[in-house]
Amino acid sequence: MISPEQKMELLVSLCKRRGFVYPDSEIYGGFANAWDYGPYGVELKNNIRDAWWKRFVHGREDVIGIETPIIQHPKVWEASGHIATFSDPLVDCKKCHHRFRADQLETNHCPDCGGELTESRHFNLMFQTHIGVTQDASSIAYLRPETAAGMFTTWKNVRDSMRKKMPFGVAQIGRAFRNEITPGNFIFRTREFEQMEIEYFVKPEDAPRAFEAWLEEQKTWMTEVLHVDPSHVVYHEIAKEDRAFYSDRTIDTEYLYPFGQKELYGIANRTNYDLSRHQEFSGEDLRWFDQDTGERFLPYVIEPTWGLSRTVLVVLLEHFDIDEASTADGEDKEPRMVLRLPPRLAPVKVAILPLQKKDGLADTGRALARDLRQSGLIVEYDESGSIGKRYRRQDEIGTPWCVTIDYQTKDDQTVTVRDRDAMTQERIAMSDLKNVLQSKLA
Ligand code: ATP
Repeated sequence: MISPEQKMELLVSLCKRRGFVYPDSEIYGGFANAWDYGPYGVELKNNIRDAWWKRFVHGREDVIGIETPIIQHPKVWEASGHIATFSDPLVDCKKCHHRFRADQLETNHCPDCGGELTESRHFNLMFQTHIGVTQDASSIAYLRPETAAGMFTTWKNVRDSMRKKMPFGVAQIGRAFRNEITPGNFIFRTREFEQMEIEYFVKPEDAPRAFEAWLEEQKTWMTEVLHVDPSHVVYHEIAKEDRAFYSDRTIDTEYLYPFGQKELYGIANRTNYDLSRHQEFSGEDLRWFDQDTGERFLPYVIEPTWGLSRTVLVVLLEHFDIDEASTADGEDKEPRMVLRLPPRLAPVKVAILPLQKKDGLADTGRALARDLRQSGLIVEYDESGSIGKRYRRQDEIGTPWCVTIDYQTKDDQTVTVRDRDAMTQERIAMSDLKNVLQSKLA
């Protein structure tokens, strides 16, 4: 058994070695807490994002998608309350000058050197920039700290153009930026990250029921799509005194990371706070007209939120495993690292591996890879190195199936399909391969 710290270390090094996540700007000595998604990382992230959009937008009649800019009118952040209140309590150590979030400290002294800490002060987490050529107070703009605001600023246009019936939701996936005081733990907390959010607009009296329904959706997303073991997840009901003042109910979904139990997702009943603030600041009538009752009212909003970048981390942690495989000569066993990713999320679905380059095996393999690629599968072709090493590499990137072309293939047009998890081999006709793989992925 490996310790949680070792697991995290092994995962971070696997991510770099195998092209999932690299330290950013490494040629310049690195840029703390910024990460690059490599070729497999970006595929994994896109697969999660696409599964989410398919399930919650395309899969439902009552949710529609939008995309709004990262930099919006500065008034948006006044109305949302972010300029006034989106801050964390910051303290400095008077001795070593390290900075901490006061709400995350367990003692009154610096955890790094034991020095005395300053009084805490509010530190706004929004990144500021300037629009245009002048840099004065009138040109200040902000990078959005969450995607949700876009669903409120487009509310009037969506309401008037989309002919939806209440209740309905508006979804968005995109980047958000927070000048975090204490980023860290790999891609868990970074200053730039991606979110997948839904604002679900309901009649006030329906809000509690919609809250329960979306909480259930978050649970089944985790088990059915991410294949996360429910015993690794805790649903934390946030007490009244700890939640945002406008929230009627908040539940954080927390995951047991190697570095502790921390937030993965959240859900809140935001009442009509956002729409009422935007109505006040914009002067526009943002009420909904109920055709059945003839009433006009500001809907309540249930906001389930999913961090996409954190989901990538959780999927990697959840499916990282070490077991044993035979050595190249088959005489012995050696430890094997494997990502047991759900096939739908795996960056590469199938690897084509000819046993030898010679005797036409490579040509057969290349033609097969081309054929599978054309049918829409993500395929990798690899002909170099021992077959054992090639299997190990595919195991480490989570490829669910490896197809081997051998001498028998030349005689009877069959190939072997190796299963990543069971490590069993099945011989099937090459002409059946496409259908077999597609049905496994369905
Ligand atoms: P935390 O308590 O971890 O700071 P939060 O409560 O501020 O998170 P929300 O404002 O609810 O987070 O943001 C919604 C989601 O966005 C979170 O559940 C998380 O998945 C993700 N998220 C928030 N901040 C970050 C960050 N700095 N890096 C990566 N993901 C983040």
